[in-house]
Amino acid sequence: MLSGKVAIVTGGSRGLGRAIVEELAAQGAKIAVNYNSNAEAANEVVAQIVENGGEAIAIQANVSDFAQAQSLAKATKDAFGQIDILVNNAGITRDTLIMRMKEDQWDDVLDINLKSVFNCSKAVARPMLRAKNGGRIINISSVSGIVGLPGQTNYSASKAGMIGFTKALAKELGDRQITVNAVAPGFFPTDLTSTLPEDLQKWILENTPLGRMGNSQEVAYAVSFLASDRAAFITGEVIRVDGGLAM
Ligand code: NAP
Repeated sequence: MLSGKVAIVTGGSRGLGRAIVEELAAQGAKIAVNYNSNAEAANEVVAQIVENGGEAIAIQANVSDFAQAQSLAKATKDAFGQIDILVNNAGITRDTLIMRMKEDQWDDVLDINLKSVFNCSKAVARPMLRAKNGGRIINISSVSGIVGLPGQTNYSASKAGMIGFTKALAKELGDRQITVNAVAPGFFPTDLTSTLPEDLQKWILENTPLGRMGNSQEVAYAVSFLASDRAAFITGEVIRVDGGLAM
């Protein structure tokens, strides 16, 4: 479904990003697997894709840094000749109540989760426009950005910001057949959620109509659909993959 396409997945080395990388590669895309600090994890994902007959490279870049996002796009274009799909997935949490939240906890979350989306989208927009071949930008938001969660003022703000960004950019790039959409996951067992307090885990399960956490492939399937030609007339949309939690 994605053969001949080139995708960048930010934070593609672990968790949901890794599942997205594996699914896009399984659909035939060539992948730039971005990571920040854990080269070993990124190299392992790349090796697995290559072993399965696909094409992938690992590219280190801190996507909260404007210049490094530019380098990520350039390195991808140098390696594969084009950029068709950007998945803005890299993200962190620094959860705490606002009374305890330090300025750097706010700044880090906004920079890595939201500024990165500006940085990377801007870095791919020009090559996509020049190629005159449409494109796909898919932003991994969160239900936290839709309903707001206590202890996550920084994270909820960053994820809600991604949704506003998605809609504005969808309107800017629509006439060039570049679609911009968001996926809002509920709760998935990754490193990011490994420290969720027990009472929150209980609350999640009780309030999720499907009665369970998701598995990472369930986010990846939504992303690969949005990345495909089948989603060509969908833009500015937010697809919740949350078992009904934020309904
Ligand atoms: P994760 O397991 O902690 O993985 C985070 C990934 O982001 C890693 O590949 C990490 O690479 C990368 N990363 C972190 N900071 C980066 C930076 N500055 N530049 C480039 N890459 C960076 O997280 P996850 O649970 O898969 O979450 C992925 C996305 O889904 C996030 O945006 C998160 O907010 C969103 N989300 C997750 C859930 C969930 O339940 N897990 C729910 C809703 C939304 P390194 O290891 O190299 O640092």
